[in-house]
Amino acid sequence: MRGDGALERLGREGRIVVVGASLAGLRAAEALRDEGFAGSLTVIGDEPHEPYDRPPLSKQVLLGRASAGRTALPRLRAVDATWRLGVAASGLDMAAGLVRLADGDEVPYDRLLIATGVRARPWPQEAEAELDGVFVLRTSDDSAALARRLDAGPERVLVIGAGFTGSEIASACRERGLPVTVAERGAAPLVGALGGVVGAVAADMQREGGVDLRCGVMVTALEGDASGRVRAARLSDGSTVETDVVVVSLGATRNTEWLAGSGLGAGPRGIACDAGCRAFDIRGIVTDDIYAAGDVARCPHPLFGYQFLALEHWGNAVAQARIAAHNMLSESAERVPHMEVPSFWSAQFGVNIKSVGVPSMATEILITQGSLESRRFVGVYGYQGRVIGAVSFDHGRWLPFYQELIETTAPFPPPFATVDRRPGGQRPVDADFPDPSVPTHGPTVTLSGYSPADRRTTFTPAH
Ligand SMILES: Cc1cc2nc3c(=O)[nH]c(=O)nc-3n(C[C@H](O)[C@H](O)[C@H](O)COP(=O)(O)OP(=O)(O)OC[C@H]3O[C@@H](n4cnc5c(N)ncnc54)[C@H](O)[C@@H]3O)c2cc1C
Repeated sequence: MRGDGALERLGREGRIVVVGASLAGLRAAEALRDEGFAGSLTVIGDEPHEPYDRPPLSKQVLLGRASAGRTALPRLRAVDATWRLGVAASGLDMAAGLVRLADGDEVPYDRLLIATGVRARPWPQEAEAELDGVFVLRTSDDSAALARRLDAGPERVLVIGAGFTGSEIASACRERGLPVTVAERGAAPLVGALGGVVGAVAADMQREGGVDLRCGVMVTALEGDASGRVRAARLSDGSTVETDVVVVSLGATRNTEWLAGSGLGAGPRGIACDAGCRAFDIRGIVTDDIYAAGDVARCPHPLFGYQFLALEHWGNAVAQARIAAHNMLSESAERVPHMEVPSFWSAQFGVNIKSVGVPSMATEILITQGSLESRRFVGVYGYQGRVIGAVSFDHGRWLPFYQELIETTAPFPPPFATVDRRPGGQRPVDADFPDPSVPTHGPTVTLSGYSPADRRTTFTPAH
């Protein structure tokens, strides 16, 4: 499908296959039809469900405000496609241009989009992970099962890992009046994503919200009773937590195993792509017919030193899906790069948290508006004289302004005075991120392409 007229033929009668029937997969399928693709479209998904939304699974569903089965993603348009749901893609033959399915079928493609996302990292001790009452939270089935157990009124919920998902789960449980312990290996909740200064605020929020928060400790073992139900967890500080529900919230693993041996540049960090979502093969040469989008993709970002960013962000999945769909139907000169500034939101302990940019790359933070004490503030993150991220706690309407600073490579600290800048908030301080080589709960942005521990990238401020 290359050469003269090949693209027109592709658009008219080509075969496009999307693997992964969730947010990125659905939005890509819609965008392909929006772009005028009239050929055959097949969407393959290993879950039996229609594409659904995940953010409510740790929020509204656990609060009992929505059922897990009712978070279907809105359809932005009708999509004429063959949906192969409930069957996994098990292999890729790049030379033959076909996807192998777990049921033995083979689906040929002219263009392939991989949007297989991530899955929850399970508790590492298999027998302990099998205990009744031990959960992870990634899918709607996970959420339904956990919500049912919370409805039954457990004695105590133990959340292992205080990243965004773990913290939201703890928040929902407290809102339901359930006793909660959170165990976090790092110094504070959210520390991997937002650093220690903001993490300290998150810790206060949890403690004030009634969470028994234990930081700087690891859970070393889960214990079950004679009937195989979890009854306690042992911690590295020698303490024991009696609990009948454990939610393991240790971050995610990219769904790339099915690509092993295919020759595609895919591995535990995701699928390496160019800025236009075209996947690389293992030689580092870009393919022209295979694309990746969403949580499974990692792409170089011009605003962040062309580092490869792997993002577990809803908005990123939507943006990349559209870009991949456009680019797979376009001539080289019409292809567009993925340049969106990463953004993320979370709701926990009554506070609306939003972030833009890549805070975890920063070395410094400056509170430009509000105050940490009031838990209503904007913190701006700096790295080598540039603004590279911002976070707001209940101050979200300001974030577009800070996003513009990131897009225009504005200097850090920002030169403007703000009306409510407080004494003590005037000077940047160490943002206090943990050493990136030490795993915490798994931040939602992963920098890769070199060891993030050595922070080698150099920014050249434009001002
Ligand atoms: C509980 C929770 C809360 C969240 N809250 C927020 C939030 O507040 N804000 C935010 O920005 N983001 C949030 N996110 C992240 C957001 O939901 C993800 O970024 C988004 O779902 C990514 O979409 P995706 O399509 O790339 O991947 P996924 O949604 O992970 O979908 C990938 C799909 O591919 C399927 N698949 C995997 N392997 C195969 C295979 N071999 N064959 C076929 N199918 C396969 C998977 O089963 C899955 O259905 C949250 C995520 C979770 C789990």
